[in-house]
Amino acid sequence: MNVGVLALQGDFREHLAALAECGVNATPVKTAEEIKSIDALVIPGGESTTISKLAKSFDLFDLIKSRIASGLPTYGSCAGMIMVAKSIKDPASGQETFGGINIEVERNAFGRQVDSFEEDLEFKGLTGPKFRAVFIRAPWVAKSGEGVEVLSEIDGHAVAVRQGKVLATSFHPELTSDNRIHRYFIEEMCNK
Ligand code: GLN
Repeated sequence: MNVGVLALQGDFREHLAALAECGVNATPVKTAEEIKSIDALVIPGGESTTISKLAKSFDLFDLIKSRIASGLPTYGSCAGMIMVAKSIKDPASGQETFGGINIEVERNAFGRQVDSFEEDLEFKGLTGPKFRAVFIRAPWVAKSGEGVEVLSEIDGHAVAVRQGKVLATSFHPELTSDNRIHRYFIEEMCNK
């Protein structure tokens, strides 16, 4: 299995390191050929407007969108969550998403005062202690539609969701040494 980490912008190196620690073959991807050849995709944290623009200007947008729609196991963290959402509340002008999960996300939802914070989360399906999650100008799920399973929430706002082969988190497990979410993705979305 070859997991591609979308390497247009954002913290793709950290995802590559986390996946390598989980013992899977992970490579950065940024060409159509590379994206056609992968068995799973990770979309990193970063800036969703930039990822969206670069995917369009490199002519990758429709390819990624259609690979996800045809069942490519995909995990998006933070900006990556925005990219796999069906829609964005108040999107930037022209900002589009690949889709994959039937959710509407709100960008920078936690507000300026709490630009960045850490929280110990219950995460459905993970065993062991709570997951120490790092949030940086994070989105939350404003609405989730049919077929979406909420895995974790803060004050009633979903911050981790799954649907079919797609997983999304508002936070950045790639920035901590706890690889349980990456393992969850591999076991639940890629190996089943
Ligand atoms: N606020 C960013 C966006 O809207 C996401 C931030 C992040 O990935 N840490 O794309």
